[in-house]
Amino acid sequence: MKKAALHNLGCKVNAYETEAMEELLKEDGFEIVDFDEEADVYVINTCSVTNIADRKSRQMIHKCKKTNPEACVVATGCYIQNFGKDIPEELGADIILGNNKKTDLIEKIHEFFQSKNETILDYIDINDGWVEYEPMIIKKDLEHTRAFLKVQDGCNQFCSYCIIPYARGRIRSREISDVITEVTGLAAAGYKEVVITGIHLSSFGTGTDYGLADLLEAVAEVDGIERIRMGSLEPQIVTEDFAKRVSAISKICPQFHLSLQSGCDTVLTRMNRKYTIEEYTRGVNLLRKYFHNPAITTDIIVGFPGETEEEFETTLQYAKDISFYELHVFAYSKRAGTLAAKMPNQLTNAVKKERSKRLIEAGLESTQQYLKEHIGSELEVLFEEKVSLDGVDYFVGFSKEYIKCAIKAEDNQDYSNRILKCKCRYILDKHLYMLVEI
Ligand code: SF4
Repeated sequence: MKKAALHNLGCKVNAYETEAMEELLKEDGFEIVDFDEEADVYVINTCSVTNIADRKSRQMIHKCKKTNPEACVVATGCYIQNFGKDIPEELGADIILGNNKKTDLIEKIHEFFQSKNETILDYIDINDGWVEYEPMIIKKDLEHTRAFLKVQDGCNQFCSYCIIPYARGRIRSREISDVITEVTGLAAAGYKEVVITGIHLSSFGTGTDYGLADLLEAVAEVDGIERIRMGSLEPQIVTEDFAKRVSAISKICPQFHLSLQSGCDTVLTRMNRKYTIEEYTRGVNLLRKYFHNPAITTDIIVGFPGETEEEFETTLQYAKDISFYELHVFAYSKRAGTLAAKMPNQLTNAVKKERSKRLIEAGLESTQQYLKEHIGSELEVLFEEKVSLDGVDYFVGFSKEYIKCAIKAEDNQDYSNRILKCKCRYILDKHLYMLVEI
């Protein structure tokens, strides 16, 4: 039997697409093996969000040829799309699939083997006008506890530091009916939680008569799905009406990843972010008005070109004031082809490192604080797997707020893929798990 192996880099959208490509390979008779194993075909879904992601993408492509020099290596995703037609030969990929071309995978693999291994380039200029949404679907067996669900592609924001709009093209969304067909299949396969995701999820439905709140209400109607989690959102989407409608959906997980990037208006302007700190705060307050102690999580870039110590201090203080449950800190990564790459006053790695350290410390304090607020309370936990922490076996999973929870594993007890009401006892500090009991 032919063997195939896949490797995903980057975001939830990439993860979804890699799973959909895995299904296409299975339907074509391939056995899916681990990426370290020898295979006839390797598929790498690349990422280009930072220089490190670019480097990892190259490394993974090269690794395949080392594992099996005879294999067919398929490279797709944002790192590949950013090259355009000028893919360097030394990259070592046999089939180059641009973004929006992933559903051509099987056809191109057959073409490659029939063409006695001629390199195949299947690519479109994704920025040349509007492109159709590339329909992909997942109908898989229950391998994970939660299913990522891509509902939107592309981005029109052009934040000055970001290469994604150039790699993913203009915004486009799925039909709600198409999403419901997929969710119904996932529920039938045993999934209890879906994570609604996109490249710019907040623009879902732009240019149509429906929006994200409509989609969430429709997904909530699907029997068997007990939890709906949202991927990263932009603060502009959090209006009174959105917060009110979404809070009326009992299956919604009260965890909102509201992308901030900087806590300082002057930096936000240079980033070409489309909101002010006042508007961001209003969004957070609306979520805290309509949800009971929701988990607000975010991303912040430190060391953006020209970021003064004073601007950074403003961001640091703002992060403390908001008290995020989780704070993901990224050191600014210069991306060729972006506006920010040409900006003056690029900061040194030493400055970025020092600022990252201070912000991460502040973030950990607010994480601890949020966890402490839940000790003694009840949480609904979707348990995923059994793990050993410091030599003790636990079942671990996540609450609706995305709090990592652990329960001691009793003999013959299997909690995986079960949602249970649990009491929060204390924090397993080292692992930042909440120890819970039934
Ligand atoms: S919203 Fe900004 S950061 Fe996010 S993908 Fe679009 S351009 Fe990039």
